[in-house]
Amino acid sequence: MTGNFSRLGGIVEPLLRWYDVCARPLPWRESPTPYGVLVSEIMLQQTRVEAVRERYVLFLRELPDLQALAAVPEERLLKLWEGLGYYSRARNLKRCAERIVSEHGGTVPRDPAVLRTLPGIGDYCAGSIASIAYGVKAPAVDGNVLRVISRLAASDGDISLPAVKKELTGRVRELLPERRCGDFNQALMDLGATVCLPNGAPLCEECPLRALCEGYARGTAADLPVRTKKPPRRKEAVGVLLLRRKDCLALRRRPAKGLLAGLWELPTFSGSAEAFLAQNGVACTPPVPAGKATHIFTHVEWRMTAYAAESADAGLPQGWVWAAPEDMEAVYALPSAFSAFLPHRK
Ligand code: SF4
Repeated sequence: MTGNFSRLGGIVEPLLRWYDVCARPLPWRESPTPYGVLVSEIMLQQTRVEAVRERYVLFLRELPDLQALAAVPEERLLKLWEGLGYYSRARNLKRCAERIVSEHGGTVPRDPAVLRTLPGIGDYCAGSIASIAYGVKAPAVDGNVLRVISRLAASDGDISLPAVKKELTGRVRELLPERRCGDFNQALMDLGATVCLPNGAPLCEECPLRALCEGYARGTAADLPVRTKKPPRRKEAVGVLLLRRKDCLALRRRPAKGLLAGLWELPTFSGSAEAFLAQNGVACTPPVPAGKATHIFTHVEWRMTAYAAESADAGLPQGWVWAAPEDMEAVYALPSAFSAFLPHRK
């Protein structure tokens, strides 16, 4: 891996000065507590800040501390997580809370090595929680930070390679200031999210680090970081059933393992709607097309076609339920993949 890392040490002060003025006003930054930092960092994994902003406030209003989170029933937890996706994070977060209450006296650990032993917490999260909640000198390096550092140093290392990630993480570790370590990590994240933007679009003219940036000096910043292209996502045709009875909708729980594990769904199927209804013994009007939508998951893209039908009686296959509109709002957590077919829930 080549690059010019010699000027990296100079970024700390200008970056913190920039952060003092330009830090994004986010609810979890208002009066941070270790619990709030833990919740926000788990919510922010692979999820846009805008989606987290509102959910975070509601989540903390109902579950204000670790004890409340450890005790919440899973169904309610998933409802509070609705719209954030990657629901395994919610389950892991609850397991985290249970472990912290039973093994750590109800206090979020401050040692990154201990944090990493908790469910769903990897290197990045451990570093961000320890540094933001307690000011511990620990790096928090995600894709955003790898991009910023690669550009600052004009590094040609492929950031999808673990060895490159490890080396760049080491470079960040060397930069960590004695004081304001959490602010430094957050400043790097904010710079990556608002100025040093991905997909070849850094806003270098607005950047507080421009004078120190090797990628900018060489005119190569927009082409960095180097990253092996991921294989294309698998595309899957998915039928979606909108089975109604009066103002209720039929829902089914998904299998306990796999995509959207254990969540409620509008019943999905492959093949024809008629065959699916017959297989499940559902008596209803002939299904009619009710719209198309696409939803992108990490490894698969659902090309969905919905079919609507009116149920002929109250009977449903085992494991299906009738959900009234108020239950849809208050009880059942439905993945956002189905929002396109439920306009009032967008
Ligand atoms: Fe990123 Fe441009 Fe700033 Fe360099 S000067 S860190 S490429 S925004």
